[in-house]
Amino acid sequence: MKNILTTIAIAAAAALLVSCGEDTKKGTSYLDTLLLKDYKPVPCMKLPEHHPHKAKFPVHDMHSHAYANTVEECKEWAEQLKANNIDKVVINTYASGDKFDKLYDMYKGVSDVFEMWCGFDMSAWGTPEFEEKAVASLVRDFEKGAKGVGEVGDKGLGESYFTGFDTGVPTPTAHMNDPRFDALFEKCGELGMPVIIHVGDPIWMYEPMDEYNDGYVNSEHWKIDLDTPGILDLYELCTTLEECCNRHPGTTIIACHFMNLTHDYELLGKIMDRHENLYLDNSARHVESAITPRATKAFYEKYQDRIFFGTDNHPAQKMYDLQWRILETEDEHFYDYEHAYHWPLHGIGLSDDVLKKLYYENADKLYEKLAAKRK
Ligand SMILES: [Zn+2]
Repeated sequence: MKNILTTIAIAAAAALLVSCGEDTKKGTSYLDTLLLKDYKPVPCMKLPEHHPHKAKFPVHDMHSHAYANTVEECKEWAEQLKANNIDKVVINTYASGDKFDKLYDMYKGVSDVFEMWCGFDMSAWGTPEFEEKAVASLVRDFEKGAKGVGEVGDKGLGESYFTGFDTGVPTPTAHMNDPRFDALFEKCGELGMPVIIHVGDPIWMYEPMDEYNDGYVNSEHWKIDLDTPGILDLYELCTTLEECCNRHPGTTIIACHFMNLTHDYELLGKIMDRHENLYLDNSARHVESAITPRATKAFYEKYQDRIFFGTDNHPAQKMYDLQWRILETEDEHFYDYEHAYHWPLHGIGLSDDVLKKLYYENADKLYEKLAAKRK
């Protein structure tokens, strides 16, 4: 009898296994139809949640752009900044000459909360007059009121953000260590204008676009093709930036987005240690840095005097809310689908001392230093 029962039990288990296999084959499992890009889990953890809607301390946002297109939009944005406890915001205009003046007059006409930074004038690039013309243009923009230069951008083929601003089509020029940029960087040092430089992109954008890519889906939107002739990879670009720091020790360089090295804080720390004139901003890398809250916090603590707060992203309230939640709370396991990463995020929970430095003290100190140097 016992043997018969055992045989029946084994047969039943086998039937169940077969039926499961058949179900999967027929595609009845959601696993077979759900696409990764549609996977948007909702956290089910019962944990404390905090949703600050303004910064705990006054903020000098060192990295944004000319998102407001009209006087009315400037006014709305100024109100929003005030509500978020943001006292100053750097507008990286990319512009020079008349274009810079137009933006300057519109933003400054609305509020002093806006701090206008100009671009390099690339209109004479490739001609013998380039240096002279670009330097004259920089001095003119400085006299108009430009406080710094931004955002220089090199994603592998040379600076292309400023040429892109003029033509709508980015035309790569040269890397940051190119002697043709020497006169401009030197003049920035002389005038006390910091330069924001963007090199490369996060490491996931360089990896093969396949099931092993840790940041897949978002990387797919921003991928970089290393087969492009002449293109430099992330680490080579970081080297050009380091050489730029070496060539111009009297110029303040701000590598934005943590120099796109949030995946390797050890390397980023070594680079920081090598260059006194190099600073970082944390703009638009809140999602990348909030996946490793302990390593990120340790980095913020170690380099607490040399990191600025920045946003960079479109100024929706949701975006600001996410910054305050990541930097100020220790909330765990939440998502942000504005970016396509599938990662859960975690609050970094910076101390008040570090927060104050990040939010405004480091910026104040830099401006004091630059002003003293100018005298
Ligand atoms: Zn930017």
